[in-house]
Amino acid sequence: MVALTELQAILDRIGAEMVAAPDRGLVADYIPELAHVSDRHFAMAVATADGQCLTTGDAETAFSIQSVSKVFTLAIALGRLGDQLFTRVGREPSGLAFNSVVQLESENGIPRNPFINAGALVVTDAILHGHKPREVLGEILRFLREAAGEDDIHINKAVAAPEAAHGHRNLALAHFMAAHGNLRNPPDLTCGTYFHQCAIEMTTRQLAMAGRFLMGAPGAARLVSPARVRRINALMMTCGHYDGSGEFAYRVGLPGKSGVGGGILAIAPGRASIAVWSPGLNVQGNSQLGTLAIERLVRAMGWSVFG
Ligand code: GLN
Repeated sequence: MVALTELQAILDRIGAEMVAAPDRGLVADYIPELAHVSDRHFAMAVATADGQCLTTGDAETAFSIQSVSKVFTLAIALGRLGDQLFTRVGREPSGLAFNSVVQLESENGIPRNPFINAGALVVTDAILHGHKPREVLGEILRFLREAAGEDDIHINKAVAAPEAAHGHRNLALAHFMAAHGNLRNPPDLTCGTYFHQCAIEMTTRQLAMAGRFLMGAPGAARLVSPARVRRINALMMTCGHYDGSGEFAYRVGLPGKSGVGGGILAIAPGRASIAVWSPGLNVQGNSQLGTLAIERLVRAMGWSVFG
């Protein structure tokens, strides 16, 4: 067990390296609300198994969690439907971009996994069935607030609104799945709910705290069972970074989930829930410095699941 002062020193060292890094990737620019975020931000937070949460950088600044939200909706959907969910969405890496359309055609409207956009739309559609979008979004927020242990977590409507105007690919994915009978709600309703879940804002510290149930933190089984936690982690490891999932597993060696807001949640099972935020993205749409920072942290701590 590494002393907390030593972990804090490692975090601060990596934080300083990331602030100075020249090659920061490119901030998502498909909507102005994300394009305006400075690429200078960097934050990392580590919630440990013994209940501490250490941070470095802008860890109290809220950012758009975007696709990191897919982990939490998957946990909710599995809680509600169990393995039944996997009749509608697969469990294989796609090897394609997060918003790719091509695979859906040859695979009859069944998305490869719950973390690419098509799969996440199916997950949201599943929990939306029989409910109003407002109720489902309330449930997602309640889940996050309970997981993080605090209430100050909200949806930024100014981020959700332009997603719809620019969401042609997501709407196309939803319509395509509807054509194959793999959508229960009207495409614009499912997409609208998905855009709002992506527009949830959290601080890096809150995200690390919210991920504690995935490291098997004491008491977390009340939120999601250990058997399910193992499986969510398996999907994060194999599919959490889209066509960059293999590279993330190779470099970092932990299950992780990224979002185009520049956030990554990574889990060191039994040890830590790690959140990082740096808005500049690599070509696969995953945080460039976020990946590097987690890679350095995991190396320094010996936290790879591969030893
Ligand atoms: N809202 C984004 C989209 O659906 C989320 C994508 C992501 O974070 N990778 O395009």
